[in-house]
Amino acid sequence: MAGNWKMNLNHQEAVVLVQKLAWTLSDKKHDYGQVEVVVVPPFTDLRSVQTLVDGDQLLVKYGAQDVSTQDSGAYTGEISAAMLSKLGCSYVVVGHSERRDCHAETDEVVNAKAHKALAAGMTPIVCVGEGLEVRQAGEQVAHTLAQVDGSLAGFSAEQVAGLVVAYEPVWAIGTGEVATPDDAQEVCAAIRERVREVHGDAAADGLRVLYGGSVKAANVAGIMDKGDVDGCLVGGASLQADEFSGICRFY
Ligand code: PEP
Repeated sequence: MAGNWKMNLNHQEAVVLVQKLAWTLSDKKHDYGQVEVVVVPPFTDLRSVQTLVDGDQLLVKYGAQDVSTQDSGAYTGEISAAMLSKLGCSYVVVGHSERRDCHAETDEVVNAKAHKALAAGMTPIVCVGEGLEVRQAGEQVAHTLAQVDGSLAGFSAEQVAGLVVAYEPVWAIGTGEVATPDDAQEVCAAIRERVREVHGDAAADGLRVLYGGSVKAANVAGIMDKGDVDGCLVGGASLQADEFSGICRFY
């Protein structure tokens, strides 16, 4: 379960949220043993989150919302994979629809970022998903699989087995308009089948496919019940410790 904070919470607020989350997750009444919990704060919060997680041995992992396609040099405003890895990030979100839309990121760019993240020892969370017009035209599977093909180009079967793909229908992100569990399953299953065709069973079975789009504690169970949904990428609902831990306690 990964919580994408987007451009919310400064480094002090980040510390408060991670402390609350870790405290809730340590509640012995619930068994979170099967669930890997990841927070994805803004870059400016990462050092504080690292200090807290390391210092208190918290069972929360963390990642970044983006990474540069470049290694170092004259790229003002960019953050390299080596910098994120040095901060202890386990994951990097690449190709979020807000980056694809607001920063014109293509599958080629997303693919380059995913390669940089993996080469630096982090797991890319590769986001794909269709907009409303594509969904209304019934083209969601073909559209999303084209993004998967482009974004995962050049990875070996062994590498794909360790990746995370997040299916996030753009019309369901931040809108309160959650896809039905069957909608989520349809595309998540198609993603896994495409990986099976291209890379074989081990890659398809190892790949973790997340659903994202207005997931809340109240609707997560139906989504997680679907066979090809391995977890969720959560935006707004990850900003509250109680709500996010409720999502992590989906069963
Ligand atoms: C997201 O940012 O990836 C997301 C799914 O947002 P929300 O949960 O707010 O729809």
